[in-house]
Amino acid sequence: MQPLEVNPLEISTLVFGRPVLPQRDLLIELLDEVLASRQLTNGGVMHNRLEDALTQMVGGHVCLTSSGTMALMLALRLGNLRPGGEIITSPLSFAASAQAIEWCGFKPVFADVERDFPTLDAKAVEKAITPNTVAILGVHFMGIACDTSALEEVANRHKLWLVFDGAQTPDVMQGEHHLAQRGDATVLSLHATKLLNTAEGGAVVVKSAEHKERLVRMRNFGLTQGQVVDIGINGKLSEIHAALGLAALPILPEEMRARRNLREIYSRKLASAPGVRVLQPRPDSSESHLYFALAMPAKMRQACVLAAANEGIILRDSFNLLCGPGTFFENHTIFSIEEMAVAPTMAPTLLALPMHSKISEAGAGTMTTIIETCSVKHLKGQG
Ligand SMILES: *Cc1c(COP(=O)(O)O)cnc(C)c1O
Repeated sequence: MQPLEVNPLEISTLVFGRPVLPQRDLLIELLDEVLASRQLTNGGVMHNRLEDALTQMVGGHVCLTSSGTMALMLALRLGNLRPGGEIITSPLSFAASAQAIEWCGFKPVFADVERDFPTLDAKAVEKAITPNTVAILGVHFMGIACDTSALEEVANRHKLWLVFDGAQTPDVMQGEHHLAQRGDATVLSLHATKLLNTAEGGAVVVKSAEHKERLVRMRNFGLTQGQVVDIGINGKLSEIHAALGLAALPILPEEMRARRNLREIYSRKLASAPGVRVLQPRPDSSESHLYFALAMPAKMRQACVLAAANEGIILRDSFNLLCGPGTFFENHTIFSIEEMAVAPTMAPTLLALPMHSKISEAGAGTMTTIIETCSVKHLKGQG
């Protein structure tokens, strides 16, 4: 490929998973407040303020945790599920979802995704149900929501606990309601690479005060007034981490506005790239500001990743199957990859582009030129 005429400063902004930094002055003010309070953790002022703010944003009852993975573990344990039971989940996810199932002593069972969306297919889930099935863990993937209604219907009919991993859809709405209102519990991540972040952190969103109360107990060693009355762990978010989140809140609207703008530029410039499709949200759900995701032939994706790397841009193409050959879960699940028609062929076609407010129009142009050049070349190679 011809070298592109690019400004190195533009290239340096094309980074995937760049953290949104907090407002510095506000952060220092909040940290001073933490120091003055001498309370560093165990549900202090910052923690409670952030929990309230998140409740305002997503509705329901929100329980902050030390990570998204911790939130997944607590959300699964909240279901009082039979130990060792099978939990049906998606092969298209970050490691955390299946690892949380395994870590809680359950067995991850992978069901296929839909043809048109990279999320669990309710019909495939139903086929995977056995007498040992205890729960479904749906994963909203790359900003695309699951078919929540279909999965809720299957879960209700089979009396299964339904958790959604919403780490990759922190901002997605279904009409007036935040996506996190679906299922029995939804998990959010406040990791540095997500939209609102506390460096490390997470949350469980539930519908009842009783469930929240139990989560609060479980994240704090199962303690109530000094007595161990429940199963528990240390899953608390510290005051320092909560302060990071609070100091990032005021800049979110501007960050999201810039990302909407970037999405528009990317979409417009890629409209004529042959074989490249911008992943669209499900009709009942809004677009996410976390990801800009593409689908393209696997060979073209490979070429795009290489071409970008040649320009010094590292693209994330690690949305591989959690349970494919050579992975840990290949030997820790009950399913056969041969029976899975969609996910193994879809995984190598997905590509996410850098998505954050510091990418200029010129930077976005560099990015889309690389993709478009690869797509045209790929088409010629075939013809
Ligand atoms: C980021 C992420 C998580 C949670 O990760 P933590 O680093 O533990 O907060 C869980 N599931 C998915 C799909 C994710 O992308």
